Amino acid sequence: MNDDLMELYQEVIMEHNRHPRNYGILADANREASGFNPLCGDKIYLKLRINTDNTITAVMFEGSGCAISIASASLLTEILQGKTIAEAYALFEQFHELLTGHPTEGIPLGKLAVFAGVSAFPARVKCATLAWHTLKAALLNNNVIVSTETGHE
Ligand code: ZN
Repeated sequence: MNDDLMELYQEVIMEHNRHPRNYGILADANREASGFNPLCGDKIYLKLRINTDNTITAVMFEGSGCAISIASASLLTEILQGKTIAEAYALFEQFHELLTGHPTEGIPLGKLAVFAGVSAFPARVKCATLAWHTLKAALLNNNVIVSTETGHE
């Protein structure tokens, strides 16, 4: 990874950690889930509103943890607005491929693309994917606490 991308990666993560987007409790949510990454102590609580044509119309989160986990959740809430459930699953797959160093084509990832920087730090992949595992649980309507240590990555 070149220095410019690494710098952008750090900038985006620091900025979203300091000023997380869509932070708080969503009123009228119809999906929710909590996620926990015991390796780092990250916690994410996600609420979504999905309308009858399976479009995500709103998503908000609360949480505590490292800068990567908070920035990832913040960026997730931005990219999911207006996406369908099928697109959300596709984004999760693409994001995971990016983090493991095998980027694929698909839906434009926008600022999420800077998370390619995480592939240089495999131990932080679970920090970056926590919000996405939590999203998956919420979409399945499993109103439970998911842990990065009980499922697959
Ligand atoms: Zn973390």
